Amino acid sequence: MILVANTLSQLNKMLEQFKSRKRSIGFVPTMGALHEGHLRLVRKCKKENDICIVSIFVNPTQFNDPKDLEKYPRDLNADIAKLISAGADLLFAPEANEIYPNGTENGQKINLGGLDKQMEGLFRPGHFEGVAQVVKRLLDIVQPHKLYMGLKDFQQAAIIGHVIRTLKINTELILCSTVREKNGLAMSSRNERLNPELREKAGLIYQTLKNIKRYKARKNPNELLEYGLQKLNVDPFKVEYLVIADGHTLNPIDYFISSDYPVCLVAVQVGDVRLIDNIIL
Ligand code: AMP
Repeated sequence: MILVANTLSQLNKMLEQFKSRKRSIGFVPTMGALHEGHLRLVRKCKKENDICIVSIFVNPTQFNDPKDLEKYPRDLNADIAKLISAGADLLFAPEANEIYPNGTENGQKINLGGLDKQMEGLFRPGHFEGVAQVVKRLLDIVQPHKLYMGLKDFQQAAIIGHVIRTLKINTELILCSTVREKNGLAMSSRNERLNPELREKAGLIYQTLKNIKRYKARKNPNELLEYGLQKLNVDPFKVEYLVIADGHTLNPIDYFISSDYPVCLVAVQVGDVRLIDNIIL
């Protein structure tokens, strides 16, 4: 059984019940089209909290390309069945007017500490403002003890960590490792849009990241990036960015000695599908 709330007033009634009984609340925000990557977060959330709340909301403010928003896969009934099997207690699936009662333009401007200026931020202007805006709004509504997010979206996780710290939000951020398909491709709702041949070939992205990690002891970041670009920039792949950065500041690094938390992050266009991945070095 799962409770479903589509409006704030329905959700608030359910939350009051949990809070009056002093239940610990874990929260997994998603955009639906759920796969095993999401469900791993849901299971962990359920294991570590009395109540696991999941949201499904395809947030319009984080899509800089209206076509991408339109094409985003939606299948609420299938998602509900998956959430039941993973043990979620409550699904919050609102319409946009519940999240943005004053419209999407009047949102609070949140300081992202410059973490949005690199990588995804360069290719998807406004994306992280939208992500921060919706996650902050959802945290204000749900007020969970713990928030579960995937390392698959490394930059997003770093930015939300920054927002939680700087706004002193009373929620602990728990990061979960990336769940992958058999060939290493990071699971993503977008993978469904790849034809079987491209989906198989896209395993090359993680293979290359793993090789970069393997060669780290012998080469500097720029040599590794040169190697990576040579491997990945082959038809039908087009690399948008391949960066080795410090995982705290997200600034690119030239030498491994300058970071205690180096990460390699990549975005690749495969046909008309954009895939991202990363590996902690
Ligand atoms: P999304 O629905 O794409 O907004 O993702 C919702 C949450 O699931 C985010 O915290 C993602 O980082 C996380 N997530 C998505 N794909 C994966 C994956 N393959 N492994 C782990 N977490 C993931």
